[in-house]
Amino acid sequence: MNVYDSSRLVALLETEGWKETDDLQSASMYILNTCSIREKASEKVFSFLGRLQKEKERAKKRLKTPIFIGVVGCVAKDQSDNIFKRAPYVDFVLDSQSYHKIFDFLKGPTEKFIKTNLPSLEKFDVLPKIKKTPASAQITIQEGCDHNCTYCVVPFTRGREISRPFTDIINEINHVVSLGAKEIVLLGQNVNGYQFKADNKIYRIYDIIKNIAKNPKVSRVRYVSAHPLEMTDDLISLYDGSIKCMLPHLHLPLQAGSNRTLKRMNRGYTKEDYFKIVEKLKIVSPDIKFSTDLIVGFPGESEEEFLETLEMVKQINFITSFSFIYSARDHTPALKLADDIDYSTKLDRLNRLQSALTKIQTNFNLGQKNTKITVFIEDDAIDKNFMLGRSIYMQTVLISKTDSLVDTIIIGKIYIVEITRSTPNNLYGKII
Ligand code: SF4
Repeated sequence: MNVYDSSRLVALLETEGWKETDDLQSASMYILNTCSIREKASEKVFSFLGRLQKEKERAKKRLKTPIFIGVVGCVAKDQSDNIFKRAPYVDFVLDSQSYHKIFDFLKGPTEKFIKTNLPSLEKFDVLPKIKKTPASAQITIQEGCDHNCTYCVVPFTRGREISRPFTDIINEINHVVSLGAKEIVLLGQNVNGYQFKADNKIYRIYDIIKNIAKNPKVSRVRYVSAHPLEMTDDLISLYDGSIKCMLPHLHLPLQAGSNRTLKRMNRGYTKEDYFKIVEKLKIVSPDIKFSTDLIVGFPGESEEEFLETLEMVKQINFITSFSFIYSARDHTPALKLADDIDYSTKLDRLNRLQSALTKIQTNFNLGQKNTKITVFIEDDAIDKNFMLGRSIYMQTVLISKTDSLVDTIIIGKIYIVEITRSTPNNLYGKII
């Protein structure tokens, strides 16, 4: 979501003559769009600010113009006072609903911290449309979250759940498609909880996907992050193969496989509920595969409860996952629970979990070797000898430019790729 927000902030700054640059040394403003979901991400902001302070001092001498450092996003909301205390050279801080007020500061003088009363849709109306898009375009359809998981800072940083008007979303999708987007990724903290009332109808994510599917220029549609409780039957029915741009893959955060832990996390479902959703989806789409998010070492998690998570991971066979040690965050209810598991136990659980997950992922990738699969080309890879693509299961596929049997590989196009090699994290192949 920060990538999406940043692209719209860039479009806004361009209206006043600013230009985006990757070159720190030539920049006269640095904006850090920040994430506070885990402590590590939050701390990175401060270490990067230290680096920017030095750049700012150097640039001041060189450019002889005012140089600004701004912090925007969730850390801005979470830690505004702390930012000015620890990094007094920061010029402005804007919370995640206030990006569009950046000129209030730049044309100042004004407060150094601009915040809105969350939630608000105002920024979506004020921020101008983007002028260029990657082949895979991200569109925020809702923000904030009402689920109130006890470990999560999102309800504080992004506020209560709001859904954007259906027609605004469709217009924005049509706009990015006209700019060349071929894949649409719908974004929201509780993305499948999207609901917008208009014309005596409640629009849901189902309606958005159905609408996208009518556009022949869109070859894939995805959504993140889904909540198990919002996997309604209409949404599940979209996986039945009748919509060509839906993939047989779903990222569905589980977080823990023990009912006691899920309850203390306030996830609102049991492991049995989760299994039922998986089964329903498998009936509709027998080839579907799942990826997930997992937390180990949540306060009070016993060894037996951790083993339940491990067992569930094996039963569902998650092909990819993001797994972390529980990270205590300010403004969350879990902060009141005794963080009673020592770090070495947490680390041991994470290692055991990740080793099981890696085994599944490695085997799954190995099974694709010497097969021919369809791959969506996203971009150039970091290694310029390869293009970066995604399989229907969201595996990273690195496609050799020299071995492929085409003269040029077109970004945004889908190709048949023969997989010649697999590693735990990547597939390698050539276009045939
Ligand atoms: S559903 Fe996701 S965003 Fe919402 S509170 Fe829970 S973890 Fe946070």
